[in-house]
Amino acid sequence: MGSITLDNVSKSYAPGQPAVAGISLDIPTGCYCVLVGPSGCGKSTTLRLVAGLEECTGGRVLIAGQDVTRVPPKDRDIAMVFQNYALYPHMSVRQNLSFALKMRKTPRPDIARRVGAVAEMLGLGELMDRKPRALSGGQRQRVALGRAIVREPKAFLFDEPLSNLDARLRVSTRVELKSLHQRLRTTTVHVTHDQEEAMSLGEMVVVMEAGQVQQAGPPLEVYQRPANRFVAGFVGTPPMNFIDGHASDGVFEGPGGLRVPIAHRSAGAPGTGAAVLGFRPQALGDAGGVPLTLGVRSVEHLGESSDVAGEIAPGVGIVARLSARPALAPGASLAIRLDATRVHLFAPGPRGARLGGGAP
Ligand code: ADP
Repeated sequence: MGSITLDNVSKSYAPGQPAVAGISLDIPTGCYCVLVGPSGCGKSTTLRLVAGLEECTGGRVLIAGQDVTRVPPKDRDIAMVFQNYALYPHMSVRQNLSFALKMRKTPRPDIARRVGAVAEMLGLGELMDRKPRALSGGQRQRVALGRAIVREPKAFLFDEPLSNLDARLRVSTRVELKSLHQRLRTTTVHVTHDQEEAMSLGEMVVVMEAGQVQQAGPPLEVYQRPANRFVAGFVGTPPMNFIDGHASDGVFEGPGGLRVPIAHRSAGAPGTGAAVLGFRPQALGDAGGVPLTLGVRSVEHLGESSDVAGEIAPGVGIVARLSARPALAPGASLAIRLDATRVHLFAPGPRGARLGGGAP
């Protein structure tokens, strides 16, 4: 097993258009790291640079402390699982699982033992003689995982491994992946566009945008202390609300006479100036905090809760996740409260840095 280090790695497919623009990351041995971000942000390219399927334009990749920047993929001792699983269609499950070991001239009894152990771990016993076409999507996904596990590599690289599964199966497979990782503790880099998948699986979550790391850290830290407005808006459902205004003396002032005290000013943040208030729909409720009047535009009933969209001042729209409001209808005027201990303050702009708020 091994750590993975990216040292100022960059990749341009065309001159002057970096897909990955100087990424540095330290993924410790045994860590489950998830790269997450919108389509085109450079996640897959980053993974392919670790795998050696793409050549770095600049920087270094280290696996288990060894510089592998110029080492071909087959010699990097990593195993990749792709979105489409890439199983050999003419081979049985058993042959698919054994293939890499055979190629490496592993002794037959060892192959049988390792394949048997992985088949049992993943519940593939009954399926060993089937061809991939006779398997369900979830079963194929398991064979693809099994094929990676059986090689006992230094690291697993997963590229959107759950995106071909239906919603329910995706959630149950997420749980399986997690418990598998608890047992194997193999360093893993997992790429997804799905922030919920990232939050649920990752011990380390790396939020990417425009070929750069916007924030890397444990999922709760990324959720509770987003480093900038991009991360704040990307992580969490429904997305965080943002309101443009002005901050001075630890108070945010916004449209409609809104005044919200801001705790924990970030080191080095200016005390006064244009600023953006951020708060999650879950930070709104019935009691405590700052009073707001919400002119209701639409209500989405979710069972236990209702997502209420509306305006707190002309042209200033927000979403509130409130306890279920079966009788609430568009046009109503609703008194709600904003929990001021759960607000965030950012500098203006789509990637404005965190200025304060939230937990210390
Ligand atoms: P993601 O996985 O986050 O969706 P990618 O790493 O696939 O993003 O792509 C990052 C950027 O690089 C995109 O702008 C994409 O169009 C570009 N790109 C990816 N692969 C290639 C390629 N083989 N040739 C040229 N451009 C590419």
